[in-house]
Amino acid sequence: MIGRTVAAIVLSSLCGMASAALIAIDVGHYAAEPGATSARGRPELEFNRELAAQIASALGVRGYATRTIGADGGMQHLWRRPQAARGADFFISVHHDSTQARFQSTWTHEGTEQRYSDRFQGFSLFVSRENRFWRDALRCASMIGAALVRAGFKPSLYHADPVLGENRLFADKANGVHYFDHLAVLRHASSPAVLFEAGLIVNRDEELLMRDAVVQKRIAESVARGTSECLNQ
Ligand SMILES: [Zn+2]
Repeated sequence: MIGRTVAAIVLSSLCGMASAALIAIDVGHYAAEPGATSARGRPELEFNRELAAQIASALGVRGYATRTIGADGGMQHLWRRPQAARGADFFISVHHDSTQARFQSTWTHEGTEQRYSDRFQGFSLFVSRENRFWRDALRCASMIGAALVRAGFKPSLYHADPVLGENRLFADKANGVHYFDHLAVLRHASSPAVLFEAGLIVNRDEELLMRDAVVQKRIAESVARGTSECLNQ
């Protein structure tokens, strides 16, 4: 018995199968408060759910174990999310972005008046320095941002603007990473944790890209690549 166990361990190590890292993928928001509303009236939760599934699939292809949190839309209490992620080696919260209401106008889409803003576009990443693993989180966020930039996506940058955004300090401007220290879902995570805003769904063109399965796959693949590069370092 012992001999077989040792042989199995040696074999699994040789095959690189020993304990794949576990990635927690958090679907931002919940059914009762589904986040931002897109330029065509679709709730952010639906975008988050689709992209989280693509990210889980892209990480799975790379051999990672994943745990998706909040996909059923029932996770009302924010504190439950980091708790549900306990045991994970990395935590990523998936969101889609909006703008301040004062930058939005109205238009009519399929007979319904909707709010939109075509002024901003692009992705953003956030880390909290109140999470004790924040240096690792920043390293991973930078590598995810770099992978997205290499794939042709652009950081939104407006969150750092005192007038256009919320004056959030850049942690890595080139790769779209900001500090967002008080963000509960990040600071309470028991692993390096990153919040990802994939794109602006109030932007009428970008909304269509965010709904496109091919684009979702490219984003997910970049997130998986950056995460993998970071965890393998
Ligand atoms: Zn959100």
